[in-house]
Amino acid sequence: MKNDLISRKAIKEYINQSDLTNREKMTLHIAISNIPSTAAAPEVHGRWGEIYDPYGELEEWIHGECGRCSKEKSPYCPNCGARMDGGEGE
Ligand SMILES: [Zn+2]
Repeated sequence: MKNDLISRKAIKEYINQSDLTNREKMTLHIAISNIPSTAAAPEVHGRWGEIYDPYGELEEWIHGECGRCSKEKSPYCPNCGARMDGGEGE
């Protein structure tokens, strides 16, 4: 099972719009409220820049924010952990 971070508020809104009975909704709301939260830093997004060798061949990738170079264009920066999807926030 994927263990990612989701919004408690979004789950409650989803439950409220479902076809469940009020009693079932109440049970789920209580359960969701009692699940402990986890500390999480906001996700940082970044972008790989291209580095070319003197012959104009693509040599490697660089994350300009932290200066990390990489031979592969990985989905996350191995140095600072930024998500390398090029996006800014959500
Ligand atoms: Zn980085």
